[in-house]
Amino acid sequence: MTDQLPERDKKPLPPEGVVKPVDWTDYRDHLATADQEGHRLWIYPRKPQGRFTSARTYLSWLLLAVMFAGPFIRINGNPLLLLNFVERKFVILGQIFWPQDMIISAVTILVFLVGIVIFTTAFGRLWCGWTCPQTVLMELVFRKIEYFIEGDAYEQRTLAKAPWAANKLIKKLGKHTTFFALSFVIGNTLLAYLIGTEGLFKIVTDNPLNHLPGLTFMILFTLLFYGIFARFREQACTFICPYGRLQSTLLDENSIVVAYDYKRGEKRGMLRRSLTTEQRKASGQGDCIDCNQCVTVCPTGIDIRNGTQMECVNCTACIDACDSVMDKIRYPRGLIRFASLNGIERGERLRATPRLVGYSIVLCALIGLWLFLVFTRSEVEATLLRAPGSLFQTMPDGHLSNLYTVKVVNKTSRQIPIEFRLENIPGDLQVMGGSIMLPPQELAQNSVLIDLDPALVKNGHADLVIGVYAEGKKVETLKTGFLGPRNDVK
Ligand code: SF4
Ligand code: SF4
Repeated sequence: MTDQLPERDKKPLPPEGVVKPVDWTDYRDHLATADQEGHRLWIYPRKPQGRFTSARTYLSWLLLAVMFAGPFIRINGNPLLLLNFVERKFVILGQIFWPQDMIISAVTILVFLVGIVIFTTAFGRLWCGWTCPQTVLMELVFRKIEYFIEGDAYEQRTLAKAPWAANKLIKKLGKHTTFFALSFVIGNTLLAYLIGTEGLFKIVTDNPLNHLPGLTFMILFTLLFYGIFARFREQACTFICPYGRLQSTLLDENSIVVAYDYKRGEKRGMLRRSLTTEQRKASGQGDCIDCNQCVTVCPTGIDIRNGTQMECVNCTACIDACDSVMDKIRYPRGLIRFASLNGIERGERLRATPRLVGYSIVLCALIGLWLFLVFTRSEVEATLLRAPGSLFQTMPDGHLSNLYTVKVVNKTSRQIPIEFRLENIPGDLQVMGGSIMLPPQELAQNSVLIDLDPALVKNGHADLVIGVYAEGKKVETLKTGFLGPRNDVK
């Protein structure tokens, strides 16, 4: 064995049993989807079947329905989700967020980051395999179309090697046309999330010359999704997705992942009908019969028996494949299962550890805080600033006046009348150009003139408290200063 080791591993050898030298004959130093020169290796995963695949399929129907219907779903007249970066307008769960919603934005980012860390530490890449749009679309939509048109893994391989005859041409053309059409639908759905359904319909129905940027994005998104699902596929998770790369830093020995029970499975060996289970065990062999079924179904082309690997998206296809093998040979299921490393090493069944419960509580509390902030925030938000470069003016009646600029945002989808009232001091407050009737989802800017009796302005200054009223109800209190002549300056 040591003859096969590179020079650096030959000497000095660690004491026997202290450190296990790398077995270079069994060491994977390149991706499953690329050879050692970096050329792409195409994966032909076998069609998975089983209870987890069924559960994922049902869940995917729900997720796909929400994803494609999302831009059309309205809550209080607003879309379910809108992320309009160009107009800086964001709607989440029907709630409109403005750049003024700084605190909620900060908490949202915090919930997102903490959520990722907590969720991944506790549950591994459950998100990737079960709910990530990339996996859901790739494995449960595009892959299924591929199985339908080209057949299972063996047929796909055969077709790929076959010469370009009519049968191959029809199947490939049919598949890629369907993929392109679907990519167009997905691209348009993404566009609807970015510019809203109204904006999308305008691009589709209006003169194309009026919407060249929108049309460009429509084409780019279509090509992007077609490229990802027809060609790039599982490599998107390995090369591009930052969450996938974070996995290795976030997982620990208590994280729940799709794992091979090496204690039960090793030493692996082919099943010999001549040996009883007891005889097999007595000969030192484990429950893994080395049938490779778990490898042939893996959409990322890895062997889960090598341990947790960065390509694994926890899709559970290998669990279903192995469970079906275990059923056939009448061994208990779960040789590959959701488990933590500690669970496997100690042979414990999956259970909610105090750490897992604690993490889940923290995550729920953060989500609860976010929901509280979102659903209790004010519908109207105002800022009042002194007009740039203005001082005070003395009016013909001797009163002093200051000019301010007020900005009011209507975060609702209804028109709201806005009023301002001086609350701590007698005086006159006038909104230039009359009262404010704020259109839905709009920001209005007006000038406000405040007159005070000079007797109320001490040492050139008076504090003002201004109430902001929407539909007659106080929604905010603003504080500002009022300038006048300094009494001590002669
Ligand atoms: S190892 Fe198993 S869970 Fe991981 S990607 Fe492959 S089939 Fe899916
Ligand atoms: S499917 Fe199960 S029994 Fe077969 S090789 Fe994989 S782990 Fe071993």
